[in-house]
Amino acid sequence: MPAPLTVLDTLGRPMRDLRVSVTDRCNFRCGYCMPREVYGPDHAFLPRAEILSYEEIERVVRASVALGVRKVRLTGGEPLVRRELETLIRMLASIEGIEDLTLTTNGTLLAQKAQALADAGLHRVTVSLDALDDETFMRMNDAGVPVATVLEGMAAAEAAGLGPIKLNAVIRRGMNEHAVLDLAERFRGTETTVRFIEYMDVGHTNGWRLDDVVPAGEILSRIDARWPLEPIDPDYRGEVAQRWRYRDGAGEIGVISSVTQPFCGDCTRARLSADGSIYTCLFATAGHDLRPLLRSGASDDAVTDCLRGIWTGRTDRYSELRTLDTVDLPKVEMSYIGG
Ligand code: SAM
Ligand code: SF4
Ligand code: SF4
Repeated sequence: MPAPLTVLDTLGRPMRDLRVSVTDRCNFRCGYCMPREVYGPDHAFLPRAEILSYEEIERVVRASVALGVRKVRLTGGEPLVRRELETLIRMLASIEGIEDLTLTTNGTLLAQKAQALADAGLHRVTVSLDALDDETFMRMNDAGVPVATVLEGMAAAEAAGLGPIKLNAVIRRGMNEHAVLDLAERFRGTETTVRFIEYMDVGHTNGWRLDDVVPAGEILSRIDARWPLEPIDPDYRGEVAQRWRYRDGAGEIGVISSVTQPFCGDCTRARLSADGSIYTCLFATAGHDLRPLLRSGASDDAVTDCLRGIWTGRTDRYSELRTLDTVDLPKVEMSYIGG
């Protein structure tokens, strides 16, 4: 395989990670992402013809790997609601150059699918779980799913070799603040790393207010007061979670502080939406639609050239520039672009 090119954007950042949203549908209605008032029975999800086929996704992933991408994460919506996802995983697992092939899921379908995903070549999973008590969790997912379903999914993923698992928890003021200590306690001393995420102002349907954000600094001090912590160096440039470990050796946690401590300077991530648009920032106001190219018989080189052009023109640093004015700009929804 030829040596990877390093394609840099206007701020000198390489393209290293690609997040692929395989569907805009989900079996949860988390209030911070797909609130039921907006994503109700009449909501128009993407029509099937507009969604990229697995072959089309594979072409875009191949092109991005040729430009330096090494980590590919499947997401959504809920990626496991898309049929035969293992077929796509098998196709991507055969691409030389991908060092990390992962999936972010709410865990509801993992018990059923973990083994097939592992057999197809998936490396790891990240599971989202916002509380350990059913009352809070059901209020967060608004779909009546109990915590046990997700824990069973996690156990199945570990048994299938998809661990160690990273667990994502979005913390919202007044909603699940108590989950910080609950989750820390439950997963201390296990292989699972809990990553606490600041509630972000993605999209415009979740009614985001700065008051609802529990800053990462506050999350850390709550845990540190109970089980003292110390910082660990990042694994690699562009790692979004700041890593901390328990001083007593019981493992590590992470915090993702995109609101209070933006990390745009190291942001090496591109996103592909389910309908084939490339977004160079989670807060982008518009994507670059690849579908016309993919569906007009263009060559692989043309797809790579197009991606290169998009990346070299990239200027995004939304979180660093976030002000009260930008919060109200039109933005793309998280369930569409995949977090
Ligand atoms: N459905 C899958 C899941 O929930 O893991 C994958 C897609 S979801 C959009 C990806 C991640 O984004 C999840 O960990 C979720 O908690 C996080 N997320 C969604 N909306 C968010 C928000 N407003 N602020 C911070 N994180 C958010
Ligand atoms: Fe669905 Fe994930 Fe969004 Fe929750 S965060 S609504 S599980 S896509
Ligand atoms: Fe990257 Fe945009 Fe987030 Fe900054 S705001 S870290 S550029 S996705």
